[in-house]
Amino acid sequence: MYVFVLDQNLKPLDPCHPARARELLKADRAAVFRRYPFTIVLKDRTIENSVVHPHRIKIDPGSKTTGIAVVQEPIGRVTTAIEVTHRGQVIRDALLSRRVLRRGRRNRKTRYRQPRFLNRTRKKGWLPPSLESRIANIMTWVQRIRKFCPVIAISQELVRFDTSALVNPEISGIDYQRGELFGFEVKEYLLAKWGRKCVYCDALNLPLEVEHIVAKSRGGTNRVSNLTLACRPCNQGKGNQLIEQFITGKPDLLKRILAQAKTPLKHAAAVNATRWELFRRLQQTGLPIETGSGGLTKFNRKTKGIEKSHWADAACVGTSTPQQLLIKPIKPLLVVSIGHGRRQRCGTDRYGFPIRHAQRAKFFMGFGTGDILKANIPAGKYAGIYIGRVAIRFKPSFKLTTGGKSFDVHPKYLQVIHKADGFAVL
Ligand SMILES: [Zn+2]
Repeated sequence: MYVFVLDQNLKPLDPCHPARARELLKADRAAVFRRYPFTIVLKDRTIENSVVHPHRIKIDPGSKTTGIAVVQEPIGRVTTAIEVTHRGQVIRDALLSRRVLRRGRRNRKTRYRQPRFLNRTRKKGWLPPSLESRIANIMTWVQRIRKFCPVIAISQELVRFDTSALVNPEISGIDYQRGELFGFEVKEYLLAKWGRKCVYCDALNLPLEVEHIVAKSRGGTNRVSNLTLACRPCNQGKGNQLIEQFITGKPDLLKRILAQAKTPLKHAAAVNATRWELFRRLQQTGLPIETGSGGLTKFNRKTKGIEKSHWADAACVGTSTPQQLLIKPIKPLLVVSIGHGRRQRCGTDRYGFPIRHAQRAKFFMGFGTGDILKANIPAGKYAGIYIGRVAIRFKPSFKLTTGGKSFDVHPKYLQVIHKADGFAVL
């Protein structure tokens, strides 16, 4: 991954190769501005006397992991690759535990009241907190990248497949071999419709093939209503048999497949509320937003012979993807969303009984829990130099975690390298 570069007024310049950054740092022409993502600031340059190229942020939002790539526009060089792992389940669990504690407290401490319900309203565009956090994670990284890199546009994968390209595929007699790109859109459509598993044996996590329910040799068409997805053994096992011959003894399954084949995928199933909300938030940045479909992403990636990963998918989003992507010598920055701590002040035992209380302050002696620090301990059992994360205590004895072990350390030996920012770097 390239290194972000700022000029002496902290305006973003073109990212540079890590080797160049080392040279600049060694010659004392630059200083480290930030560790993650690695950013240097030049001491003898301003944006006015430098050549700056346009960059584009490309996003492939996922439910667990989102890929983000930054592409330098004219030459198609991927300068930055980031994979952000979200924390949906953690948030859900935390809210559930809060709810249980509140409920218990109200039952203990308040007089009886008549139940009130259906008396809450939600803002338009409301999303569950676990999904909201996903969007917040992505927006955080978009804003961060914009600070360090001259970004002029954003590309986002908005939908799995392009419905306008398919135009009512179940009814009109569209041939799925009409074009190479079209095949990718149809495959994504089928994946959404049939639930990413083999219809015959329910096998998950296998490469699935497009399967004709009525075989082509028996006059079966390429209409989407005649297509489904099957694993290779099932696809070959069925061959050109009739579906009734292939699944014998499972009338329920047969009925379900035939019924589902004729039903077009509901519009709602293809529309992902989180992605649309992300699209709206990205529009608020004021940058031009390009959107692409999952089918197009896959088509771009496959035709360029790029291996699948979240960040490579991101680099292939949208029609603006250049013919040639220079992405070879790149290692993504893997970050995990860990949040900014919690507001819970009252710790309980496993019965929900309050047993301890947390301090109100979040910082002590200039340190906060989660900061990445360098410890230089001169003497004692743990003498040496360490880099790790700290958990603060409200006494000058912090807990430093480094390399799987943790021990107490006095803050006078500590120096902040990177302030806690809600993400951990793998
Ligand atoms: Zn199968």
